[in-house]
Amino acid sequence: MSMKKLIRPVVTQITPYTPGKPIEEVKRELGIKDVFKMASNENALGPSPRALAAMKRAIKDVHRYPDGSCFYLKRALARKYDLSPEQCIIGNGSDELIVLALRTFINPGDEVIIASPTFLVYRLAAILADAKVITVPLRAFRYDLVAMRERVGPKTKMVFIANPDNPTGTYVTREEVEWFIYSLPKHVIVFFDEAYCEYVRAKDYPDTLKYLGRGNSIVSRTFSKVYGLAGLRIGWAAATREVAGYLNQLREPFNVNLVAQKAAEAALGDRAHVLRTRAMNEAGLRYLSHGLREDGVFYVPSVTNFLLINVGPQSQQLYQRLMAKGVIVREMSGWGLKNFIRVTIGTMRENQRFLKQFRLARAALAKGA
Ligand code: PMP
Repeated sequence: MSMKKLIRPVVTQITPYTPGKPIEEVKRELGIKDVFKMASNENALGPSPRALAAMKRAIKDVHRYPDGSCFYLKRALARKYDLSPEQCIIGNGSDELIVLALRTFINPGDEVIIASPTFLVYRLAAILADAKVITVPLRAFRYDLVAMRERVGPKTKMVFIANPDNPTGTYVTREEVEWFIYSLPKHVIVFFDEAYCEYVRAKDYPDTLKYLGRGNSIVSRTFSKVYGLAGLRIGWAAATREVAGYLNQLREPFNVNLVAQKAAEAALGDRAHVLRTRAMNEAGLRYLSHGLREDGVFYVPSVTNFLLINVGPQSQQLYQRLMAKGVIVREMSGWGLKNFIRVTIGTMRENQRFLKQFRLARAALAKGA
C-alpha cells in the first residue's frame, strides 16, 4: 500500500506554515554577512538581562526533567494577573495552546470560526483537529465581530480572536468584545489570542482576563514578543479552573523546558525591559509610519510591533531585493495579501536601514531596473 493512502487525508490537504526566513539561512544562501530579520515580530532588543541570568543559572540542571506543572511560573503569573495558579496553562509557545484547546473541545465536524486573513495557525490546527473551518473576512483590516457573530450556529464550537491581530496590527475594542462575548450561546468557546497585548496602549483595549468567569473564554499570551524569548518556546493561557484543568490534562507531561520556565519567570519580573522594549517600539513605529506617509505608501496603523504595508503588485520582487540587501521582511501572499509585506519594528538602526533599502528598491523597481 502506498504511504499516501496510509496518511490521514487532512494531512495532504494542508499547506504547512512557512515561518520568516532565519538569519543564518539568508547568510548561507546569499553569502552576505550583515543580515537582520524584521520578519517574525520578535523583540529586536533581545531577552531581558534578568532572563539571561536566570537561564545561565538553570542550564546546569538540564540533566533533570523540568517541573511538568510549572509551579513557580504559574505562581508568578497568578500573582501578577490576579488569577489562581489552577487557572493557568503553560505551553511550548502559545502555538501549542491553540492546538491544545482545539484538541480539548473539537469533535469531528464541529465548526470553528476564524477571521481571514489572520494568524495562520488557527486554520491549520483546526483542520488537523477535524473541525469545519468557517472564515469571516476582515473589514477595513479589522476583525468584524458582528459578521463573526452572525456565523455562530448550533454547530459552532470555537471562535478565535487575535487581539491585536497579526498580520494587520489592529485591535478590537472593549465595547465590541463585551457585546460579542455576552451575546454568545453557552456552547461556544472564545479563544482570545493576545500575543501582542503588552504593546497596546489604547484605552479602549479590553482586559479579557476579567471575562474568564462569565463566558467560556480562554486567553493566551506569550513570552515570544515583548519578553524577547521566542527561541525558548514558551507561552501561557488562562481560563476557568475547570477549562484549565482539561487543557492541563491533555498537554504532554514535560511540554515546557526547564530553561524556558526559569527565563519566563525572570522576564515577567523585569518591568524595565518591557518599558525599554515598548519605548523602542513606539519610536520605531512613529519613524517608519512617518517615512511611509512621506512616500505616499499605504500601511495599516498598528498597535503592535509590526506594520502591514501595501507595496503594490511588485511585492515579491521588493521582498527579494530587500533580502539581497540583508533585510528580511515577510512577503504576505501566503495570507492572500498579494500586494503587501509585513515588517517587524526593529532597533532604530534597523528601521533606518530598512527604510533606506525600501526606498532604493522601490525606486529601482519603478524604473524597471
Ligand atoms: N499568536 C499570534 C497572533 C502570533 O503572531 C504568534 C507568533 N507569530 C503566536 C500566536 C505564536 O507565538 P508563540 O508560539 O511564539 O507563543
